[in-house]
Order: sequence, then structure tokens, then C-alpha cells
Amino acid sequence: MRVKCSCGSKARITKRNEMSVAIIQLYCQCTDPECGHAFVMDLAFSHSIRTLANAVDQLLLDRFHSLSVDKQKVLFDHIVATTPAIAARTG
Ligand SMILES: [Zn+2]
Repeated sequence: MRVKCSCGSKARITKRNEMSVAIIQLYCQCTDPECGHAFVMDLAFSHSIRTLANAVDQLLLDRFHSLSVDKQKVLFDHIVATTPAIAARTG
């Protein structure tokens, strides 16, 4: 991926900070020593051009992982208790 500085010169990505699956901050440094501009660009998911086969599964997993550990445990325990196939294994 190429990033340009506002002066028109190439910029080098020095660090990336993954804010989420859909947003990454790119820390950039202009390669023109006379400019020396350091800046942050946001790389963001825009839209899908083909639906993910497991999009619903991924949405559920993303939602689950966004919960606090305590809420994850409550939900997990509920799923185990109310899903016969799992309850039989852990029973
Ligand atoms: Zn520059």
C-alpha cells in the first residue's frame, strides 16, 4: 500500500494501530527530509462487494467478543445449559 504526504512525496508507514477489524490507523512519515511531515491516516472498511458465506456467524462472534468477560461467561453458561447437544457432553 502506498501513502503520499500532502507535499506529494511518498510517505513510509512506520506503525499500524488496529482500532478494530474495520479501522486501522497508519502512522506515516514523509520520505522527503525537507518536509519531515509525520501524520496518521485512517484505513477503514467501506463496503462488501460479495457477501461473506459466514457473515452471520462472524457478526455473532464479533458481538460476543465485544461483550465484557462477565457477560460472555453468562451468555456462554446460558448456551451450554440450553443446548441439549452441549449439555449432554458436559452433563
Ligand atoms: Zn511531505
